[in-house]
Amino acid sequence: MVTIKSKKEIELMREACKVVALTHKAIEQNIKPGMTTWELDQIVEKTMKSLGAISAEKNYPSGFDDVPNFPAAACISINDEVIHGIPSKRRYIKEGDVVSIDLVALKNGFHGDAARTIIVGKASKEAEKLVKVTKQAFFEGIKFARKGNRIGDISHAIGEYVNSQGFSVVREFQGHGIGRQMHEDPGIPNYGKAGKGIRLEPGMTLAIEPMVIQGSPNILELDDGWTIITEDGSLAAHYENTILITEKEPEILTII
Ligand code: MG
Repeated sequence: MVTIKSKKEIELMREACKVVALTHKAIEQNIKPGMTTWELDQIVEKTMKSLGAISAEKNYPSGFDDVPNFPAAACISINDEVIHGIPSKRRYIKEGDVVSIDLVALKNGFHGDAARTIIVGKASKEAEKLVKVTKQAFFEGIKFARKGNRIGDISHAIGEYVNSQGFSVVREFQGHGIGRQMHEDPGIPNYGKAGKGIRLEPGMTLAIEPMVIQGSPNILELDDGWTIITEDGSLAAHYENTILITEKEPEILTII
């Protein structure tokens, strides 16, 4: 079901999204080579707690009997990992790594969701381009996130832009509505036809999240039941914000 948020609910969304923005800031200020992804996860846990929120990713159900709930506060995916990487005390961040961090905070019953991809230290020109294009794909998409447009307008803009830059979008995962639930309708694919899908209305809150691969769009799931990697071993990046559809320009709630 697509939910239209009231004024009061929008204020609560803003609060949850602010937590996500501040937690990403804490990560950006502290991430460095030699750290483990578990240490980054601790920063997420502590920052969210200090802001009166919890991670909605922790203990998120896998939906499968033989796969445990997500065991950490953040999804941290490095290099050829696309999304849903599990933080670990044995996983060290290295100079030149492309690190995607996806955070969802829950505060006062509402969710905020955003992802950033950070290059630690110096990386190849290609890696830099991938990260830049992934971020820009989000901004190309939200040019169409306006009252009266359709979801497909956003999807189409993202997919076309990414392809024009020589990269691929992931097809098996997509953006989503967000509010009292982490995942609400509508689904927002990162490819598709303009003019298709539901019409956008003021009060909708949407998580728009291009997931971009340097090489082929094919992905695989690791045996942990969570981590998604690129099939060809090429790099992947992820950029996401929670936005609000208004009467005019969309508002990005997870950038403050
Ligand atoms: Mg997310």
